[in-house]
Amino acid sequence: MTWSLFIFCFCYYLLAGLVVVIGYHRCLTHKALKLKPWFFRTLIVLGLPAGTPIQWVGNHRSHHMHTDEELDPHSPIVSGFWYAHCGWYINSRNPIICFLYSIAGPIRMGIDAINRPISNQEHNKLARDVAEDKFLNWISEPLVFRCIVFAHLVLPILFTYNLWGVNGVIAWSVTLVIIYNLGDSIDSISHLFGEQLKENKKGAARNNAIIAILTLGDGWHADHHLFPSSAKLGFKKGRIDLSWYIILMLEKLGIASDIKVRKEKK
Ligand SMILES: [Zn+2]
Ligand SMILES: [Zn+2]
Repeated sequence: MTWSLFIFCFCYYLLAGLVVVIGYHRCLTHKALKLKPWFFRTLIVLGLPAGTPIQWVGNHRSHHMHTDEELDPHSPIVSGFWYAHCGWYINSRNPIICFLYSIAGPIRMGIDAINRPISNQEHNKLARDVAEDKFLNWISEPLVFRCIVFAHLVLPILFTYNLWGVNGVIAWSVTLVIIYNLGDSIDSISHLFGEQLKENKKGAARNNAIIAILTLGDGWHADHHLFPSSAKLGFKKGRIDLSWYIILMLEKLGIASDIKVRKEKK
């Protein structure tokens, strides 16, 4: 792999992570901060392979309401590792099918383009505010969603093939597999391995330093369950939350405002 291809893949990973962590998760779902509309909409378009905004928010809010209970859409405690990791997207509890889906990268993106606007819709009622937003409603329409996600699939293939040939496409595909599984690990590993907080009365969310670094901060998942509307995670000193540093930078640039942070205990 050439340096230029490595740098492209690394930047792609950083961008994919940040748009979902800051755009979908902390801003859209938990309203931990406000972003300028043009910037927020750009994040949503860039993060669209994660799912339709309505479906993503509905499922995630349901996860917080019913953490590790029967109604949790993806609990490894209730439904097992593979279902929580990625099986819930395709409604499969078969570990082999889940594993193949988890390593499918570009094929998974193609499946998701078709499937996501019509799957996991049962929690949409928890995302009424999202559905009331004209832009977010429009981009959640199956046809619009599918066109944009197919563009997410085709454009990087053309770009990497033109610059680096087949090796470029392979490197991007592997990067995609890593990105998907890091996102999935929040739903699975972050409820199984790591430090639990006794203040968390419900569920088994964990703080896991390795997942936190790789997922750009969201792996401080026990912290997140304790204060879902905090834009900053990693409550103990020295805990790195890259997304938080980016949020601070966005505030300096006048793009982020109304940032909520957990009040420190004295
Ligand atoms: Zn959780
Ligand atoms: Zn959350």
